[in-house]
Amino acid sequence: MESKKSLIVAIDGYSSCGKSTIAKDLAKELGYAFIDSGAMYRAVSYYFIENDIKATSKPENLNEILKGIHIHFANVDGINTIFLNDKALTSEIRSKAVSSIVSEVAAMSEVRAKLVALQQSYGATGGLVMDGRDIGTVVFPDADLKFFVTADIDVRSQRRFDEVKNTVNAITLDQVKENLSHRDHIDSTREDSPLTQAPDATIIDTTHHTRESQVEEVKTYVAKLLKGN
Ligand code: C5P
Repeated sequence: MESKKSLIVAIDGYSSCGKSTIAKDLAKELGYAFIDSGAMYRAVSYYFIENDIKATSKPENLNEILKGIHIHFANVDGINTIFLNDKALTSEIRSKAVSSIVSEVAAMSEVRAKLVALQQSYGATGGLVMDGRDIGTVVFPDADLKFFVTADIDVRSQRRFDEVKNTVNAITLDQVKENLSHRDHIDSTREDSPLTQAPDATIIDTTHHTRESQVEEVKTYVAKLLKGN
């Protein structure tokens, strides 16, 4: 697909409903950058675990802690990889330990303020597809295109389970479903930037979609927008 403009595309939705897959494929198609904002919250959560910081309540010295956290993305062997204080993070941020605290960490306003500022800096020159929970509502409220992705919880759990079963030790389908429901609940009910559909977002329900058909659907909206400009 030819993209003359440097659009910002925001893709939000529930956990494991295919947001990152759509975002990644679309970015590749358009020749845009892709940022998985969830990986940033996961990297901060990983730091908490590595430094024995409890996430059950907000640490008193959170601002000090955050000063020691530096996140950036860089291309490693063709893969856009997240770095935490110059350490590349891959499967460790998808661990059970990280998944079980990430929504608590992401509910802390100081964490959000730091990561949202970074996310907005990535969009300064446009040409970006970002997925997350608050991209179309808070990070880029003026995004050129917004999608809100949903899917049936059992379908999401199975997809997530298939994704992590070989890398996460002794995980069960039930545990995955429980974690997704837990995160959806916290993400949708937190005070700061709850997960909610932007009024101008297009809903994509991926329950009965294949990877290819999801991306095709999104591409038709992008093509229309590009044509109109
Ligand atoms: O996208 P992923 O499921 O990896 O995100 C992990 C967690 O990070 C979410 O459950 C949510 O708590 C948090 N998150 C967020 N805002 C974003 C992206 C992710 O609060 N923009």
